Amino acid sequence: MKILVVNCGSSSLKYQLFDMEKEEVIGKGTVERIGTPPSYLVYSINAEKIRKEVSADNHTEAFKVVIDALLNGDKSVISSIDEISAVGHRIVHGGERFKEPTIIDEEVIAEIEKNNELAPLHNPAGLSGIRASMEVLSSVPQIAVFDTSFHSKMPRYAYLYAIPMRFYRDYRIRRYGFHGTSHYYVAQRVAELVGKPIEELKIITCHLGNGCSISAVKGGRSVDTSMGFTPLEGLIMGTRSGDLDPAIPLYLMRNLNYTAEDVDNILNKESGLLGISEFSNDMRDVMKAAEEGNQNAKLAMEMFCYRIKKYIGSYAAIMNGLDVLVFTAGIGENEPEIRAIVCQDMDYLGINIDLQRNNFKGQEREISTPNSKVKVWVIPTNEELVIARETARLIS
Ligand code: ADP
Repeated sequence: MKILVVNCGSSSLKYQLFDMEKEEVIGKGTVERIGTPPSYLVYSINAEKIRKEVSADNHTEAFKVVIDALLNGDKSVISSIDEISAVGHRIVHGGERFKEPTIIDEEVIAEIEKNNELAPLHNPAGLSGIRASMEVLSSVPQIAVFDTSFHSKMPRYAYLYAIPMRFYRDYRIRRYGFHGTSHYYVAQRVAELVGKPIEELKIITCHLGNGCSISAVKGGRSVDTSMGFTPLEGLIMGTRSGDLDPAIPLYLMRNLNYTAEDVDNILNKESGLLGISEFSNDMRDVMKAAEEGNQNAKLAMEMFCYRIKKYIGSYAAIMNGLDVLVFTAGIGENEPEIRAIVCQDMDYLGINIDLQRNNFKGQEREISTPNSKVKVWVIPTNEELVIARETARLIS
């Protein structure tokens, strides 16, 4: 069985074609700059990156480019579109309705549309991908897998905000959480690796990429997570502030005359590593500058790690302990120094890492010492594989 996994941004379409016999990726790439020509199809052949100019004025055209690449040319991996059994779509916001992956029909599209307001950058793009796929592969089942689903079973006391209940009742203002597919993947994978049923484990998963979030996973369920009503809450990120006193935006608007739009931009696009370092949102740049003595960069790193540490402590408290700590995504997988700073002085909790074992990038590996009570692992995330598996499960 072959499953196509699609992840659409407003101007990009990433795809992976899985052969589910061996859960192997047989074709993958990205269409970039959709709607702003020149558009490109980017893929690799034998580690060589190939960038071909293509015509992709919208997501439907981009989708046709993908199908053409899978069928024809130097990257052909199927001989007919009938080989594609289903398409799995990554959708960021499933709201309260979608607690599980779902087969897409018109009613489901309308429900996803209702969440556009809650994820204005992401959901419309996801829907464009769905529509494109339904148009080009009209007889193939389409499945939506939601970033919010894994967090949808949090207890009420964890997902509600302490504001008047009418805002939840009338407007569904609550914590939803994001990166759920990634937290789910690394939690279940680490349970396999430590050889215990996930139901018996207390796990903290740290997804540290450009966007960052952390989850408490108890008994296989996400019981709390740091992103909230939107992806702005929680950890310090590339350009997002994460947690802050809610009075700060009010102060900026009342006393400094910023508009709501300005504040949105400041907190989402100008804050985080970029705001503190004053030059980059990319942890690689920040760490390099810190090493060269840049004090703002050093501070950005310290603040980034300090926030993660605070969350680990609080999530260990709400779960009454911790068995496994997992690092994943760009920074979590590739920055040993960040992992080391976060895990430093955590022996009170039973976290001890082996600095030598920690000194590597981008593979699955345990980094805790043999006598560390808490097992610490690095697990490269694989959201596409989860989407492919869920899609295959739903159609069979
Ligand atoms: P996104 O959230 O956009 O998917 P990523 O998971 O790729 O982002 O994470 C981006 C962050 O990870 C950046 O801060 C970057 O510095 C860091 N990063 C990504 N890849 C590497 C790498 N190979 N080595 C070191 N750091 C990396």
